[in-house]
Amino acid sequence: MPDTSNAVKARTLALVLGDQLDRESALWDDFDPDRDVVWMAEASEESTHVWSHKVRIAFFLAAMRHFRDALAERGYRVDYCELGEEATTLSDALRDAIDRLRPERLAVVHPGEWRVRDALRALSEEKGLELIEHDDTHFYTTPEDFARHAEGRKQVRLEYFYRELRKRFGVLMEDGQPIGGAWNFDKENRGAFGKRGPGRLRKPRSSKPDEITREVLDLVNDRFAEHPGSLDHFDWPVTVGDARRALADFIKHRLPSFGEYQDAMWTDEPWLYHSRLSAAINVKLLGPHEVVDAAVAAYESGEAPLNAVEGFVRQILGWREYVRGVYWNHMPRYLDRNALEANQPLPDFYWTGDTEMACLRDAIHQTLRYGYAHHIQRLMVTGLFAMLLGVDPRRVHEWYLAVYVDAVEWVELPNTLGMSQHADGGLMGSKPYCATGKYIQRMSNHCGECRFDPAKAAGDDACPFTTLYWDFLARNRERLRGNNRMAMQLKNLDRKDPAELAAIRERADSLREELAPSLPEG
Ligand code: FAD
Ligand code: SF4
Repeated sequence: MPDTSNAVKARTLALVLGDQLDRESALWDDFDPDRDVVWMAEASEESTHVWSHKVRIAFFLAAMRHFRDALAERGYRVDYCELGEEATTLSDALRDAIDRLRPERLAVVHPGEWRVRDALRALSEEKGLELIEHDDTHFYTTPEDFARHAEGRKQVRLEYFYRELRKRFGVLMEDGQPIGGAWNFDKENRGAFGKRGPGRLRKPRSSKPDEITREVLDLVNDRFAEHPGSLDHFDWPVTVGDARRALADFIKHRLPSFGEYQDAMWTDEPWLYHSRLSAAINVKLLGPHEVVDAAVAAYESGEAPLNAVEGFVRQILGWREYVRGVYWNHMPRYLDRNALEANQPLPDFYWTGDTEMACLRDAIHQTLRYGYAHHIQRLMVTGLFAMLLGVDPRRVHEWYLAVYVDAVEWVELPNTLGMSQHADGGLMGSKPYCATGKYIQRMSNHCGECRFDPAKAAGDDACPFTTLYWDFLARNRERLRGNNRMAMQLKNLDRKDPAELAAIRERADSLREELAPSLPEG
């Protein structure tokens, strides 16, 4: 047993979790540097409870270490537990700190993940210590705001929640009306690049790893060598300064075209006009207000058009707040939803990119290289394929939580289970996002480089998306029958010749067999 008799005692042990690197958080309101101690820990369980990408692990550790140093510079005492050789859980590391520092109470900002919140509550009870949970002031709204909005509504759609927030926070509003006379400019935001492609794109600003980050990269390469992905291209912003520079770079160089091309894809062009800010925002190096204000300022100064700025604001003020409301109002049962009763395993190629399907190959290779894919790659390529194949949504969720640099459960889970897999039975989306390979053909150049034909549903060169689309509709025909928004798609299914449908189903079955993982899961 370590001798703790001379250990520094703390009044409050202020817990800073890996996704709470917020210099403005409510945790600091009554923090007394003379009596309180900050606690942070690199618990290996946080990197292994899902099979995390090296980039995701390295991003969190590097950002945490920089934040630790920034707090120390402020004169705060920081009890920081670096990743050791032995496997640790957050609870074990905290138990040890409590025994050493013997605090009178614990304080934390409302954790972003149900599992972590439960673990902290259980530990505070075990130790007989009060746990003060501060509201998370990083967000525009609270989960209670969402609950109030949802009250009495049959369905809670993004659109009305978003409009309410536009009005409440006066974002892109004029005399109580949306600027430009419309709440959204979706029709202008579905552009593709056409045959000539996006042309030469300016590279986004790169945040070169400093010494602290390089140390973390070595550590992760060593300690998590078996984990997926590579650190060779790691250049994510891990400090407030770098995150602000990345924001400025996006606003100046990519925001003006963000709207028009936000759904477009192109081989070997991972960033296009996207911001690459999600990870920095999720760990709170940047606040959503700051990001939205910067985009609105670009509109006001004429540097970016309204369709781009509104499209971007909608992602942050709209989707990001909305999915958080869904998460906190529907967990923990949300995790078990499987409305389409999908039970297939996740194909092996999700971990390697080793597939003949050009669109999936590009999205997954890019994911393994950078820990990044943009929204439409996640929703309409990897997500769509898993849904059409009928993969168990829990397995799909674990994959998304593992492989992206920005993955934190409160934002990942509703996007995966709700938006992309329709596993919540329509809580988030009025219909499944299902489409044939022709959608991908329209939005990218992938099909031109692929051995499959997006127009074909049966035969050896049929596009697996197209085959599985019809199979998906046929398998879920009765479930989707009552959904008016699916009426047209089901009508087209009903028109299919039974012989053609039988050929499609046969090909779908053989695809499922072919794609079954070589090793049993678990
Ligand atoms: P941009 O395209 O530049 O968008 C700007 C910002 O808007 C993002 O940085 C992000 O903060 C926010 N945003 C955009 N779309 C969404 C959305 N649907 N929900 C919430 N916020 C949004 N986002 C995460 O931050 N973490 C995740 O783990 C995550 N998992 C996802 C899983 C699936 C299956 C899908 C379909 C989407 C997921 N998203 C997730 C949402 C979105 O894909 C990413 O936020 C975005 O691709 C990040 O890249 P970017 O910063 O370049 O975003
Ligand atoms: Fe993807 Fe099908 Fe197009 Fe190939 S043909 S790139 S599998 S959509």
